[in-house]
Amino acid sequence: MNDAVCGKKSRELFEEAKTLLPGGVASPVRAIQPYPFYTESASGCRLKTVDGLEYIDCCLGYGPLLLGHAHPSVTRAVADQLTRGTLFGTPSELEIELARIVTSDYPSIDMLRFVSTGTEATLSALRLARGFTGKTEIVKVEGGFHGAHESVLIAAGSGALTHGTPDSAGVPAEFAAATRQVAYNDAEALEETLSKNDNIAAFIIEPVMGNVGPILPEKGYLEAVREITKAHDVLLIFDEVITGYRLGIGGAQVKFGVTPDITTLGKIVGGGLPVGVFGACREIMECVSPSGAVYNAGTFNANPLSMLAGLSALRFLHENTGLYADAEEAVCRIRESIHMDAESFVSCGSMFKYFFRDSAPKNYREAKESDTAAFRKFWEAALKSGVFLPPSQFETNFLSFAHDKEAVDKICEVYSCL
Ligand SMILES: *Cc1c(COP(=O)(O)O)cnc(C)c1O
Repeated sequence: MNDAVCGKKSRELFEEAKTLLPGGVASPVRAIQPYPFYTESASGCRLKTVDGLEYIDCCLGYGPLLLGHAHPSVTRAVADQLTRGTLFGTPSELEIELARIVTSDYPSIDMLRFVSTGTEATLSALRLARGFTGKTEIVKVEGGFHGAHESVLIAAGSGALTHGTPDSAGVPAEFAAATRQVAYNDAEALEETLSKNDNIAAFIIEPVMGNVGPILPEKGYLEAVREITKAHDVLLIFDEVITGYRLGIGGAQVKFGVTPDITTLGKIVGGGLPVGVFGACREIMECVSPSGAVYNAGTFNANPLSMLAGLSALRFLHENTGLYADAEEAVCRIRESIHMDAESFVSCGSMFKYFFRDSAPKNYREAKESDTAAFRKFWEAALKSGVFLPPSQFETNFLSFAHDKEAVDKICEVYSCL
């Protein structure tokens, strides 16, 4: 890559950033080598860089921007709220309005708590599961991502029969020991793990693996997961931080007709501003402080800006549900543009990915067999053509409702090189 692709000013900014920010960035995936481009502004499906370059965005902030950048209804609502105050430290009506919408859209949620990130949502959901059941251990899916906290930063490959090992320095082995892992799409492994251990509070899973792919659930898998967890008195947590409102208004749980005990949401629910949600039936949620003994608190919980951005985004979605099918159709066009065997092109609604291997992966291990050098070549070619794809073989590509025909044509052109 050279300055003609990413720009001289971006290169210079990254040089300075590396002296001020670890790795030059604020979150690891942004540390594109040899240097990332720096965005100055964004609108609809397009990013503009400090060097005046323009890219069609298929990364979309890694998921939240289903409506695209600077969507007029969201922008107007947030601008109005700025003049009325950004943080009250008291309840506001906005949180009730947003809670009303989310609880009616998600069958598993009667009550919820707003937090500021998806990481906080899963952290709180796991604490709640432990508090509610009085049990200690959790099971997660190998390679599943649930944010950056101790219980879930567990190295892949450690398996369910041994204790987990930390995937980050600074995570005490004692934390990791309380997390076990099973492969995605392997209901038998889950059954075996739960039947050998009666101290498991919860099984946490992305119903569609969004952070490796996407990787899709095989027919009957999510139903089996529901049955097995219920039979063993283990709470089922659907981490829908990506899939919530992405795979349809009701997320994966409505799409696949499987209802978890606890749901976490984030990303789209904040309309482009920071948010996280954990919710469940009344009996479970009443364990949360101050009505119950499971502690959660946050200065920015349910802050009026995030609430209003979320409200405007969700209202827009409710008024324009047809856009989900349009985005899915655009993804089908992208698939059809591939000349090569498209078997390893995986999609679900507006999420998609081409895996550089000979078939669609069914779990993390299979995804990891992809040819990442070939991916990198493709990624660079896409960028040269003006299309910004997430810079990893293991991050989902997204379309927004703001991707116009011209943008989709361009993306098809890029994929037609495969
Ligand atoms: C992004 C994500 C998270 C973490 O959300 P943050 O807002 O980045 O903390 C958790 N779970 C899933 C499935 C995610 O995709």
